[in-house]
Amino acid sequence: MSFKNTYLQQVFATVCEKNSTQPEFIQAVKEVLTSLEPVVEKRPDIEKNGIIERLVEPERFITFKVAWVADNGKVCVNRGYRVQFNSAIGPYKGGLRFHPSVNDSIIKFLGFEQCFKNSLTGLPMGGGKGGSDFDPKGKSDNEIMRFCQSFMTELYRHIGADVDVPAGDIGVGAREIGYLFGQYKRIVNNYTGVLTGKGLTYGGSLGRKQATGYGLCYFTQEMLSKMKNDSFSGKKVVISGSGNVAIYAAEKAKSFGATVVAMSDSNGYIYDENGIDLDIIKQIKEVERKRIFEYLNYKPTAKYTEGCKNIWTVPCDIALPCATQNELDKEGAEALVKNGCFVVAEGANMPSTPEAVLVFQSNNVLFAPAKAANAGGVATSGLEMSQNSMRYSWTFEEVDTKLQEIMKNIFASAYKASEEYATAGDLVSGANIAGFIKICDSMIAQGVAY
Ligand code: NDP
Repeated sequence: MSFKNTYLQQVFATVCEKNSTQPEFIQAVKEVLTSLEPVVEKRPDIEKNGIIERLVEPERFITFKVAWVADNGKVCVNRGYRVQFNSAIGPYKGGLRFHPSVNDSIIKFLGFEQCFKNSLTGLPMGGGKGGSDFDPKGKSDNEIMRFCQSFMTELYRHIGADVDVPAGDIGVGAREIGYLFGQYKRIVNNYTGVLTGKGLTYGGSLGRKQATGYGLCYFTQEMLSKMKNDSFSGKKVVISGSGNVAIYAAEKAKSFGATVVAMSDSNGYIYDENGIDLDIIKQIKEVERKRIFEYLNYKPTAKYTEGCKNIWTVPCDIALPCATQNELDKEGAEALVKNGCFVVAEGANMPSTPEAVLVFQSNNVLFAPAKAANAGGVATSGLEMSQNSMRYSWTFEEVDTKLQEIMKNIFASAYKASEEYATAGDLVSGANIAGFIKICDSMIAQGVAY
C-alpha cells in the first residue's frame, strides 16, 4: 500500500493500471500524490469534486506523424507529441523536447510536473509539454529547419497565444524556436506570441536564455540564506550537463562567489580544480556544438572522464543536476553525501531518483526540487508573453529583477506550505502542495469543466 488515504490509493492504483507502460509518469504522480496526503485528509471537498482523478488525466494528448527529407534525399519519419495537461489557471504552457528518448511516458511526466511548476510562479499559466523522438545531433541546419517546419505544420492547429504556448527544452533552443515560429506565422498569417524563447529581434525577452540557470541560483541562494544563514560564496559546485540550464547556472553561481569544478555532457565529464572557464564551454557548446572533452584542447590541465554518471563522486558543497531525468541515483546521492555535499538543487526536471531524494532527506541535505528550483525559465517565458501582449520590451535588468522576486516568492510559498502541512523545510512536499492548492481551487470554482 503506497498511501494511507484510501481515495489517493484508489486513484493511484487506477493510474498504474491505465498507464502501466509509463514508468516516468507513474513516478511523477506517486511523488506528487504522496505530498498531497495531508491536504486531501484536511479537505473533503477534494475527493467530493474528484480533483485528484481529474488532475492525473491530461485534458488532451496529441500524437502526430512528422515526415521530413534528409539532405541525402531520404524521407524520414518521427513522432510528434503535445500534451495539454491542465488549463485551470491559464493557457497551456510548457516546452518542446527533441531527443530520441522522448515517448508518451516522458511527455506526460513532464506535462504533469509543469502544471505545479507554472502554478508556483504565481503567473496565469496552465501545464503542457511536447516534443519528438527526433535526434537533432549530427543533423545539418537545413535538416533541422525542414524537421521543424514539418513538426509545426501539424502542431499549429492545436496551439495559439491564448490557447497553448510552447517553448524550448532539451534539443530545442533559439535556432529551433526560430524555425518553428517562422512556419507558424506563415501558416496562420498572424504575428502573435505563440512561442516563447524567441530571438530578441522578433519578440523574445531579454533574460530568457539565462532564466532557468539564474533562477536556480536565486532559489538556492534564498534557501541557503533562509535555512542555513549561508550563501554560494566560497563553495565548490558540481553541475551536470552543459546545455542551456547548466551554463547559466554556472555563470550565476560563479558571480555569487562559488567555484564550478565539474560539468558534463552525455559522453562524460570534465574536472577543472581551479574553476571551469565558462567562455570555453560556451564556445564548445553554444557556438561549435561539439563534445565537452574538447575542453582539454583549451585547458590541457583539466581532467576528462568518459561516462557522465560518476560526476557525483567529485567532492563539492553544492550539486546542481542540470542534464536530464533520473540522472542522479542512490549511489550518486550517497557519494555526494559522503564527500560533504550539503545542498542539492535540481535544474533539470526530476533528475534525482526517489531513492536519491530519500538519501538527501535522511542526511539533512538542503534539497530544492525541480518544480520550484527550475521554475525561473517558465516564469520568464510568462514575462515574454506579457511583453508580447503589451507590444513592449523590458530591459534585462527589469526582467532579471522580476525573476529574482518570483524565485524568492516560490521559496516562500513552498516553505510556508511545508510548515503548514508537512515538516518545515521539506520543500518537496511544500512545492507540490503550494502548486496544487491554486489549481485545485480554480478547478472547483470552474465546475466540472475538465
Ligand atoms: P540542453 O539540450 O540545452 O542541454 C541538455 C544537457 O544535458 C546537455 O549537456 C546534454 O548532453 C545533457 N544530457 C541530455 N540527456 C542526457 C542523458 N541522458 N544523460 C546525460 N546527459 C544528458 O537542455 P536544457 O539545458 O534546456 O535542459 C536541461 C534540463 O533542464 C532538462 O531536464 C529540461 O527539461 C530542464 N529544464 C529546462 C528549462 C529551460 O529553460 N531550458 C526550463 C526548466 C527545466 P548532450 O549534449 O551530450 O546530449
